[in-house]
Amino acid sequence: MIPTTFDYHRASSVDDALKALAAAGDSGKLVAGGHSLVPLMKLRLSEPGTLIDIARIPELAGIRDKDGQIEIGATTVHHAVATSKLLQDRCPIVSEAAATIGDTQVRNRGTIGGSLAHADPSADMPAVMVALDAEIQLQSASGRRSVKATDFFQDLFTVDLQPGEIITGVRFAPAKSAAYVKLYQKASHYAIVGVAAVLDVKGAKIQSARIGLTGATTHAVRLTKLEQALAGATADSIDKATADAAVGLESVNSDIHASEEYRRAMVTVFARRAIQAALARA
Ligand SMILES: Cc1cc2nc3c(=O)[nH]c(=O)nc-3n(C[C@H](O)[C@H](O)[C@H](O)COP(=O)(O)OP(=O)(O)OC[C@H]3O[C@@H](n4cnc5c(N)ncnc54)[C@H](O)[C@@H]3O)c2cc1C
Repeated sequence: MIPTTFDYHRASSVDDALKALAAAGDSGKLVAGGHSLVPLMKLRLSEPGTLIDIARIPELAGIRDKDGQIEIGATTVHHAVATSKLLQDRCPIVSEAAATIGDTQVRNRGTIGGSLAHADPSADMPAVMVALDAEIQLQSASGRRSVKATDFFQDLFTVDLQPGEIITGVRFAPAKSAAYVKLYQKASHYAIVGVAAVLDVKGAKIQSARIGLTGATTHAVRLTKLEQALAGATADSIDKATADAAVGLESVNSDIHASEEYRRAMVTVFARRAIQAALARA
């Protein structure tokens, strides 16, 4: 289908984008890679009056070290994340997850900010950001704020993003003992179940763990019971610790790709694989 007509504004800076958003009011919509928004517009599920294109704002792109933490600008495309030497060296889980997104075309257009704002229940980056305990950085005409990823993702396609706000980037502490694995839908590569594991390991023992889940529930969540079960675990006890990984998940998705029962089973399998892979990097 063809989208309804709309005005188009290419923003040159964050301030310019914020002004354009305010001027457009309720009918304004940001576009970055367009890989989630444009399909919705073609289906007329989204009918913005003005598209504000933020993809070419220089200050929103790039991956950098910020006082020992890593910051990724919102319009950084998945390909840049997948191939970043900084991330591969200091926080390989993020590159690893980006490399599994869609295909070459999707990875060259889709952005990390767009992925987080859209919050598809099967998107990869939300699980990784939740497991890294990342801060989502936001800016509006009234100032800046940051929100923990666990609080940012609230429900199906629902995030803590207020009207007039832009995601400017994400920030997190690097983590080496971390891995992301997923069972993916063959055509799109979206996660049927995806698990991100970030471990603190001393000797051969897991001291603490943060486990992010995507694909199985309405939005990315932490598996806190599994995290508790992993404290003190070693390679030999991972099977036992992950056995109940899906227990306590209240509402698990069921669709043409996988039933609720199958997804629950895969949460256990992929949690185990992610934790084993993360432990191998310790
Ligand atoms: C064929 C195909 C396969 C895909 N496979 C996968 C996959 O395997 N895994 C996966 O995770 N994703 C997948 N995706 C989604 C892809 O990763 C998109 O890039 C992503 O969902 C949205 O990013 P975008 O930059 O294209 O956002 P857009 O489509 O431009 O925008 C999406 C939404 O986010 C808002 N937005 C964008 N940027 C910002 C910002 N900085 N601040 C505030 N709001 C903003 C927009 O207003 C819009 O509501 C796939 C997409 C396609 C088309």
